[in-house]
Amino acid sequence: MIQDTVTGIRLRSVALPLQTPISDAKVLTGRQKPMTEIAILFCEVESGEGHRGLGISYSKRAGGPGQFAHAREIAPALLGEDPSDIAKAWDKLAWAGASAGRSGLAVQAIGAFDVALWDVKARRAGLPLAKLLGAQRDSVRCYNTSGGFLHTPLEELLVNTDRSRKKGIGGIKLKVGQPDWAEDIRRVSRVREHLGDVFPLMVDANQQWDRPTAMRMGRTFERFNLIWIEEPLDCTDAAGHAALAAALDTPIATGEMLTSVSEHWDFIRQGGADFLMPDAPRVGGITPFLKIATLAEFAGLTIAPHFSMELHIHLAAAMQREPWVEHFEWLEPLFNERLDLEDGRMLVPTRPGLGLSLSEQALAWTRETAGFGSLG
Ligand SMILES: [Mg+2]
Repeated sequence: MIQDTVTGIRLRSVALPLQTPISDAKVLTGRQKPMTEIAILFCEVESGEGHRGLGISYSKRAGGPGQFAHAREIAPALLGEDPSDIAKAWDKLAWAGASAGRSGLAVQAIGAFDVALWDVKARRAGLPLAKLLGAQRDSVRCYNTSGGFLHTPLEELLVNTDRSRKKGIGGIKLKVGQPDWAEDIRRVSRVREHLGDVFPLMVDANQQWDRPTAMRMGRTFERFNLIWIEEPLDCTDAAGHAALAAALDTPIATGEMLTSVSEHWDFIRQGGADFLMPDAPRVGGITPFLKIATLAEFAGLTIAPHFSMELHIHLAAAMQREPWVEHFEWLEPLFNERLDLEDGRMLVPTRPGLGLSLSEQALAWTRETAGFGSLG
């Protein structure tokens, strides 16, 4: 039996700048300002037997410093634990911060530790994480989101779609949910025309419609042969999403803003999605993600993980029904490695663990670190 202990932990708070300020419908409806950076929480774990792992969590807009602060408080609970006992470690970290709750920022801080422990386990086994989990496939269909934001003028949107297809990305997602519905329809119509009838196309309203508007827009969009309509309603409205999923032929996707297994369970139980979009760091790591995936699988839902493709490619490879992975190049500067694309699909890396190492740039963007135990 391999007995090992966590002997060292380093937390790193990194501010990742975005090249262009990013706007989705939440900006156009006045709810948020354009996004200019992402706060990343890295967790590096070392074991007594000399094994290492790298974990990641993140926050867009506010929340990064809070995640880091919570992680710093609960980190000592992990020292001395066997890094293989990930479920036990997760519970221990949750109990260390129990008063902060079992969702939101508190579990997002745990997410960085959880991912690092899975990385340790897969690296020690000499396996890519996908294979440790039990892979179904060695590549996953993927779609581009970064080219279809609302700050992008229509003509540039068309150039972006061409660039994506050329790169080997298999689908295109467009942001919708603008105050002027006619503008949404005009953009989707033009891009569908540009792509042809069958190339995979999705839209994402980022929670900006009320129920009647979502139903009306959903019916209008039926003719565009969309893969899905994402977040048509408020992210907590499971009943509303369920009504849309039942009424429309176009599948409904949602779940990226949910931050716990129980929040996802509410949607699964109510049939509030055709595609469920858990985000592993946002729900507390790989351990809760796998619970959500199993519940979704038995309820007949397909998983389409949100963001952080570098992590989710491994999880998507292990899902029963084939997911879609979201291609976002935003996190690329943080790592030395790149993901390969081929014929519309993202290839699962063959390196052990997540197959990721921090770049010099990630070290340079580090705002704050905290160390625990002994670090090599
Ligand atoms: Mg989305």
